[in-house]
Amino acid sequence: MALDIVLWPDPVLNTPTQPVTDFGPSLTTLLDDMLEACKKAEGIGIAANQVGVPLRLAWVGREDGSFFEIINPQILERSGNVVYDEGCLSVPGEWEKVKRFEKVKVRYQDRTQAWHEVEAEGKLAHVFQHEIDHLDGKVFVHHLSQLKRDLIRRKMEKEKRYRREE
Ligand SMILES: [Zn+2]
Repeated sequence: MALDIVLWPDPVLNTPTQPVTDFGPSLTTLLDDMLEACKKAEGIGIAANQVGVPLRLAWVGREDGSFFEIINPQILERSGNVVYDEGCLSVPGEWEKVKRFEKVKVRYQDRTQAWHEVEAEGKLAHVFQHEIDHLDGKVFVHHLSQLKRDLIRRKMEKEKRYRREE
């Protein structure tokens, strides 16, 4: 089943998610449905609260176009600085420069509950930070000035009205 992507601003996107404790079959279904929604929207990552589910899990896209799930992720180390043009499935059509760490070391679980630790840099590090921000209740617009954020908020409110009328 394809899930709808929640548009910012929405309370579910501004609230920190809860750790995943149930690794049963419903988790697999949720992961599959999230990946389908992400690919359909041509995203390079998706967090559970973007489909309205307040749990600490996300999909992260690699540069080769493949995806892997991250469950209960934590950033262990951060270093360097880099600025990227950043967009988000929950803020369609908006791209802004955002300052991020160049490298991150992340610990996360997969659906079998196994823990992984990876060091990422470049685009992958950027996607990790973007998705983990979502899980902490933050959207990339929180890194922008108040002025830009208000401008984007007005555009998104218009977009929501438009989608409702469709
Ligand atoms: Zn996003």
